[in-house]
Amino acid sequence: MAGCVFCKILAGEIPSAKVMEDADFLAFRDIHPAAPTHVLVIPKRHIETVDDLAPEDAPLIGRMVLAAQEIARKEGIAKDGYRLVMNCRSAAGQDVFHLHLHLLGGRKLRLMG
Ligand code: AMP
Ligand code: ZN
Repeated sequence: MAGCVFCKILAGEIPSAKVMEDADFLAFRDIHPAAPTHVLVIPKRHIETVDDLAPEDAPLIGRMVLAAQEIARKEGIAKDGYRLVMNCRSAAGQDVFHLHLHLLGGRKLRLMG
């Protein structure tokens, strides 16, 4: 998708600190980390928001969550705990309109909302 910063990362046009990748998703470090570990997991297909997901995307989302689980273990934050977040549209503060799963951890996180 032209103009999409995450599609540019996928195309190698913008650098990123890659953490994990498979055929359908990429995980990389957030450029403005909100916690000691802050990784984004994105689908390789441009999907704008959670609201655009279809039933057939369930395996993709499942694999993205399992990737976050594996990354959390590798980062050493799984035992203490971590947070997975997907912001959908403006009320949630979505800035990049290419679906992404935030993995946050490495310190005690504040309550949300
Ligand atoms: P959201 O507010 O849920 O849309 O989150 C977008 C996230 O993307 C923010 O945490 C940004 O810091 C992050 N971000 C934006 N541009 C980049 C980039 N080029 N590389 C890594 N993370 C980015
Ligand atoms: Zn995109």
